[in-house]
Amino acid sequence: MRFSLLFFLSWTLCFSLLFSSFVDGHLLPRNARIALAELPLPSLPSNLRPQATDFSEFDLEAALPPASNTLSQMPVLPTNCAEYVGGPECPSSMTATAVTYEDCGDAFTVCRCDNANMTLDTAVDRLGRVPVGLRRFVGTVFVLENNATRAYTNLSTGDIHLFGDCAMDTWIHEASHTFDFAFFSDFVPSNTTGWKQAIADDSCVPDSYSLRNRVEDFAQMSVLKIYMLLHSGHLPPGFESACMSHQLDFMGTLPLYNAQNLFGNTCAINDGSFGVRKPPVVLDEGRVFMTVPLDPTPSPTATNSACRLKYGEWTLWGAFLFLIFGL
Ligand SMILES: [Zn+2]
Repeated sequence: MRFSLLFFLSWTLCFSLLFSSFVDGHLLPRNARIALAELPLPSLPSNLRPQATDFSEFDLEAALPPASNTLSQMPVLPTNCAEYVGGPECPSSMTATAVTYEDCGDAFTVCRCDNANMTLDTAVDRLGRVPVGLRRFVGTVFVLENNATRAYTNLSTGDIHLFGDCAMDTWIHEASHTFDFAFFSDFVPSNTTGWKQAIADDSCVPDSYSLRNRVEDFAQMSVLKIYMLLHSGHLPPGFESACMSHQLDFMGTLPLYNAQNLFGNTCAINDGSFGVRKPPVVLDEGRVFMTVPLDPTPSPTATNSACRLKYGEWTLWGAFLFLIFGL
């Protein structure tokens, strides 16, 4: 056991040193405990057509039901938050808040830098709108300042770092990473033969960012799958299902991606799955999943300044992908 731990830590350090300086054109901070790095996975084949530039033509915020909450400022900043104070992610000060939602037994920790773009209320509201079935895999949420909005996920802890005014699709994208890697080497949906084959059998992906690799494609497909559940099976205006039907079918094979398990209108969600960081208590039986009207086709001049993945998203992965993918 001790040997395994030392082996793991040593490879973590190796990967930190190897990838912490310069990856994909970005100078990355060295002060992180595990380095920030782009996933060293191959891009998806160029014959796959992105259906959109990004997800800026729709917003899930109004479609996702809010979750009522209670807030409690934490007297002491948790160590995993404190280590970012004074560094590039939060040069000033940070406040930690324990957030308990109506549908989740344990409190989430939201660490907000005092110069963050999102207010605490906005961040708490958006976290609460992440479907509880997905939200329960999320670790600590960091709310941070940046003009170039972006986000990344620590795959080992499920911690999500959000910079700028990140829209709901980004929150769900990052939460999807925490689910994808929650089970470590036992089961990583985006690394299964089924997912790889689904991509190979299709001719398109959701958007340009999905082309980055199969892990990012999985997270973007998760956003669209949740959109479809909320909109009676319809994709956002402008998207078609036929060219990515195998990817959609794969998402449908995962027990999480149905209304009951995602939105928790039954108690079956409390299944004690390994990797779940916030097991919900018995849920409110009066909470009913509701679909919403279809989105209107956007006008060509519509704009959205919220954080979009086209601006860049990093995934913190350390040694995990080495161990999982054998890279
Ligand atoms: Zn991502």
